[in-house]
This record gives sequence, structure tokens and C-alpha cells, in this order.
Amino acid sequence: VEKKCPWSRLGASDRSSPHSKQDWKPKYPKGVYPDVLSMIGNTPMVKLNRIPQKEGLECNIYAKCEFLNPGGSIKDRMVKRMFEDAERQGLLKPGMVIIEPSSGNTGIAIATVSAIKGYTCIIVMAEKISNEKEAVITALGATVCRVPVFEDSFSRNGLFGTVNRLRKEIPNSFVFDQFNNPGNPLTHYDTTANEILHQLDHKVDMVVFGGGTGGTITGVGRKFREVSPETVLVGFDPEGSKFAFPDSLNSHRNTFWEIEGIGYEFVPGALDQLVCDYWIKINDKESLQMARRLIQEEGLLIGMSSGAAVAAAVKAAKHLKKGDNVVVFMADSIRNYMTKFVSNTWMQAKGFQPCLNPHNFWWWDL
Ligand code: PMP
Repeated sequence: VEKKCPWSRLGASDRSSPHSKQDWKPKYPKGVYPDVLSMIGNTPMVKLNRIPQKEGLECNIYAKCEFLNPGGSIKDRMVKRMFEDAERQGLLKPGMVIIEPSSGNTGIAIATVSAIKGYTCIIVMAEKISNEKEAVITALGATVCRVPVFEDSFSRNGLFGTVNRLRKEIPNSFVFDQFNNPGNPLTHYDTTANEILHQLDHKVDMVVFGGGTGGTITGVGRKFREVSPETVLVGFDPEGSKFAFPDSLNSHRNTFWEIEGIGYEFVPGALDQLVCDYWIKINDKESLQMARRLIQEEGLLIGMSSGAAVAAAVKAAKHLKKGDNVVVFMADSIRNYMTKFVSNTWMQAKGFQPCLNPHNFWWWDL
């Protein structure tokens, strides 16, 4: 060993390089996580350093990196909470089959927690949801049931119609019902909102957020209304969806949009539209082009709704001053969309030319 390993020739004093026990100071708390569930939440926030400046904004935009949760999205938080509540209340017991409607990220989170805790689960998802999400759910050992995207959600073959049918047909089954479950907004009221306030030392001038179930908007929004009433809360909603208030904003005639995870044709029980000071509508093109810019200009490997969030924030924050702080959520990651907006071919086929960074095309001139 002496001869083969060059390090062994160094004396003890030489070995106390920057890596020695004395000099090295950890930047994070000592210890290890006992399980994957303990890794949920406490996500970092990062400043955007190029896009706001290029868009002529004077304020700061901070991105809450929810895609760094272990399941890859913000939905891990509320799924963990719904499991804890249902188990504590004796509603969910070992051996039960969990059935849940989802736009994918809740499905991934439920399949992750089910893998850890040993439950069987069936995730009901619209056909528009990416195959990448289905692949993750299936790899975790859960089953995916697809429903037609143009079907009314409450009809027999729609999202909720199918869940209700499966619930009746499958004995010993259980539905969390994320669209009405009080644990969904409460987890954001108890954790996400407090983390943001702490991370920005309570100096938050604006929060810009979108809704799928409304859990994030309602939970974070209500905490801010109580603790930081001067913060302006702005909701964003895809054209075609009906979440915006007043309803006159929702006059777009399309019933399909590409951005996954936000918006529905009905207002869920978990969404408090009035917690927002105002709402703005966003479209697929501006959102997905912004998602590509977040990847290329900020190095953030995020998903579709993160692009929508920054596109909305750029519109909403135009009048804010230097030093003002705006918060947006990076709800999920690039992993879910490798064959969708991440692909130039897909973007071009949809008519959303990706904004390519000219610095990366220097070789065109050779
Ligand atoms: N973005 C993405 C990608 C999502 O999957 C979701 C949840 N469906 C949201 C945003 C919105 O979260 P919430 O359900 O808390 O409204």
C-alpha cells in the first residue's frame, strides 16, 4: 500500500490540506436524513440574474426551487401532509389501494410515498400529460390510468368520473381528493410561506403564483395576508382555464393549453381566488419560451409552469423599484418534459420557436 498510494508518502501535517477536519467548515447542518420523506421541503431560493435585467426590471426576482424536492416537484409537500393526516385519522390503513386524479406531479409524489410506505396506488391522468411523468410513476411501482383530455372532468370517462368509478369498483380503496383536501393548502400555510418569509427576512413585495388545485395560492396567500399584508399577491392562469378572477378575464375560447399542472375548466374547492390582489392570463408560447430562457440564461433545469411564472412576473413587476423582492415558484423540473418543450422539434411543430442563445452558436460563423 505504501508504494502504490502517493498519499501514503505524505506526513500527517501535509494531509491537513483544505480538506482537513480543522479547516473545513460545513455550510449545512450536520447529520443525515433518516429517509426520503425527511428530505421534503426547506427548498433553496435563488436570484435570477439575467432575465429580469434584460426585461428592464429594476426589482429582484427570487425563484423558490421546489423542483429540488425528492419527487421533483412542489407536490411532495402536500402529499406527505395528506398521508400523515389520513393515517393519523385512521382513514388510510395498510393494504388499502390509493386512487387519485392528478396532472402528474401529485401522482409522482403519491407513488413515491407509497413506495416508501408500501401502499398500492392508481393514478388517473389526462392524455395530455407527458409520457415522462407516466414513466416515473410506473417505475415507482404504481399504475397509470389515462382519460381523454377533451372529456368534461366530471363526466363518466373524465378525470373525476373515472376516479369515482374506480373507487366503487375497487374494494378497500381510498382517495385523498387533493382538490378539496384541507391538508393541501395547510401544508403551504405551515411550511412554504414561512420558509419564504424567513429566507427573505420578511421583505417580500410581491408573490406571483399559478394554481393546479389552488393549494399553493390559498396556503401561501393566506399566510401572507396575515403576516405580511403589504405583499402584493398575483395569480396567473393559462388562457382557456377558469381560475382567474373576475371571470371576465377567462373569455378565451380555447379549451386546450400545453402547460401542464396549472388551470382547469372549473374552480377547485382548494382555490381561494380572492386571496390574490389580481390575476393575469398567460399563454403557452410566452410561457414555454420563457421556460427555455430559464434553462439557457439562468441554468435552472425547470418545467413548464416555471416559465409561465416568470413570464407573469415580468408583466406584473414592471413598476417595482430597485431593491423590491418578487417571489416565483419553480414547481417542477425539466425531467418531466424532455420530449416536449425541451425538444426544439416539438417547439417548432407547435409554432413556439425557442429563443436560442446566440452565444452558443458562434460556430455558425466559421
Ligand atoms: N406547477 C406544476 C407543474 C404543477 O404540477 C402544479 C400542481 N398541479 C402546480 C404548478 C400548482 O400547484 P397547486 O396544486 O398547489 O395549485
